[in-house]
Parts: sequence; structure tokens; C-alpha cells
Amino acid sequence: MAGIYVHIPFCAKRCIYCGFFSTVRQEEAARYVSTLCRELQLRKGYLSDAPVKTLYFGGGTPSRLTPEQISRIISSIDSTLGLSNLEELTVECNPDDITPDYVCALRALGVNRISMGVQTFNDDLLSFLRRRHTATQSLDAVRICRDSGITNISIDLMYGLPGQTLDMFRSDLETALSACVQHISSYCLSYEEGTPLQALRDQEKLIPATDDFCAQMFTLMCTTLRNAGFDHYEISNFCKPGYHSRHNSSYWTGIPYMGLGAGAHSYNGTSRQWSPDDLDAYMAGIEQGKPLFEIEHLSPDDLYNEKIMLSLRTTQGLNLSALPPQDRLTVLQSAESLINKGSLLLENNHLRIPESRMFISDSIISSIFKD
Ligand code: SF4
Repeated sequence: MAGIYVHIPFCAKRCIYCGFFSTVRQEEAARYVSTLCRELQLRKGYLSDAPVKTLYFGGGTPSRLTPEQISRIISSIDSTLGLSNLEELTVECNPDDITPDYVCALRALGVNRISMGVQTFNDDLLSFLRRRHTATQSLDAVRICRDSGITNISIDLMYGLPGQTLDMFRSDLETALSACVQHISSYCLSYEEGTPLQALRDQEKLIPATDDFCAQMFTLMCTTLRNAGFDHYEISNFCKPGYHSRHNSSYWTGIPYMGLGAGAHSYNGTSRQWSPDDLDAYMAGIEQGKPLFEIEHLSPDDLYNEKIMLSLRTTQGLNLSALPPQDRLTVLQSAESLINKGSLLLENNHLRIPESRMFISDSIISSIFKD
């Protein structure tokens, strides 16, 4: 089984914090779609005939494409790799792109999951982040998706925003719950290199939230969402039972995936590769029949570290019985002191990070890596 990720890099404008590869050159969309379809032909053997179970349009802002453009990409994948085994087809959308006609058109293409970048329901914070939408537009967009028959709706929220109080975040969580979505992804704001947000911080024009305060917000989020019946299945991801993201879960469980588009990553079990974060270089390479990629071949130690990193992000944790005996021994030896301190739990042959330590998971995970 395998997944396909399609990167759509176009955005109507850039958000203040954005460190993703995206561009406002939307006039290139038609050429980009043709390039994606050509890339698929050039790389159709990448997944070695594994059945495609999930297809995910991420960005950027995929909802900047017309339904006809999305249809062309889906048809191309279907005729090249086959989509008869597809279980989940997600399109990331910006709330202000959502209209009844747009969602109905997506649904007709087989889209069964919509993921929306809401970020917050506070209009002042949305304006600070330079998001295009308002809180009202987000709530309308969720309603339109539901009324149009989309039964699997995910929203993204952010916390740790400058000026955001615990009460403001609590209000965001309560509004999200009242909107009756099935899935919530929530990320702490990070100050990415080269972004206007980072410049504001460096010029001391804003006061960043402290790590301790962000940890309090994380705890509030875990408690509020658990009390509302959500499963906390990955550090930043919560869902109603049965509504976990199948596509993103495949990243955490080591299932191969092919990324199509500029800056998209692919993984086949032994190596990772990615195309340039550069629209012109990507399109020129594909059009000349010579896709540009960087490739990282994964050593046994790389694969070991990745397994640990990805598994421990999930609340299910690392299944020790699925590891070779020597790796199991190595993990247990390096985890011993963390288990004794309560930073790791060993239960039913699984090693996992308790929710109370998930906010500092990066340091816990890296301390049991092989050098
Ligand atoms: S919509 Fe998303 S990808 Fe586009 S600029 Fe904003 S954060 Fe970045």
C-alpha cells in the first residue's frame, strides 16, 4: 500500500509566519498542472505497483486550483497508477475559497476529506497572521462542507501566538468543538528563518510566548479535546474515533509515498528524495524530461532513528516486538533512564511518550537516537 502527495504551491498572498514553499505566481497554475501530470509519467514506477490508498493535495493552497485542474490531476493519477483502492482523498482548502459549488465539484471528484487552515477564530490574530479569512468565513466554510456531504472535516489551529491568552485559545477550542469537525490538527507557532514574523521578533516588535506558556496551552488543548471525545493520536493531531488522517498516519508508520510537485518529498522504504523548492527549476526539469531531485539514501542507523522518531510521535508509540532483537535491546538500553524518570512509558511491549511530556518530545526522542 502507498500514498500520493501532490504539492500545490500557490497562495493568494503570504502569511506572516509561513516557512513552507509557496508562491503567489498563480498565473503559472495551468502550466504547473501540466507539469505535474508529466512528472507522474516520468516517475510512474516509483511505487512499484503498490496499491494507492491515500491521495493528499497539500500546499500552498490547493483550493487556488479550479475543480477542472484538480480533476485533471486525479484523472492522470487514476489512469497511470489506478485509484480503485483509494480510501481517502484529502484537499487542503483555505476557508475563503470554500463555496457550495466548489465543494460539490470536489465531492464529485471523489474528495472525501477537507482540511482547512483555520488557525484561530480570533479576527485580530487572523489579521496579525495576514490570513485572508475571518472567523465567520471559517465557520461558514465548515457548514458548507458539511451541508455538501463532506463527513470528514479537519481544521488546523495554532497556539503560542503573540498576545494570545489561555482564554483566547480556550475560546478557539470551544468554537472548533461547536463546529462539530471530526479532526483537529494544532501546532505551536514557530519563528521560521527569513519570515516577516521572525523579523518582527528580532526587532523586538512583538513578545513571543514562552515555552512554559506554550506547554500550558498544549495541556489545555489535550484536556479540552479529550473531554470532548477526541482521540489524541499524534502529538499535534486529534480526531473523533475512526477519523484519523490515513494519509498522514502512513508517514508515521513508514508506508511508501510519492510526492509530486515542486518541493514534494517521496519515500520508498530505502531512500528519500525531493524536488527543488523552486517553481521554475522544477517545471523546467520536468519539461526537459530530466526531473531534478536530491536523494538521501538511508543507512540502517538512519532507518532506526526514523522509526523511533516517527513512532514516538504517535500515542500508540513504538512497537518493540516489531523490531529486530538487536534494535529492541539497543532501544531499551538507551531508554532506561527516561523510563525511570517517567519521560517514556513501557506498556504492552510498546514504548511511548506520556501526554504530559509530549510537548518536549523532540528532546526525549533525540536522546535515544543512534549517533
Ligand atoms: S496559506 Fe499556508 S502555505 Fe500559503 S502562505 Fe499561508 S501558511 Fe503559507
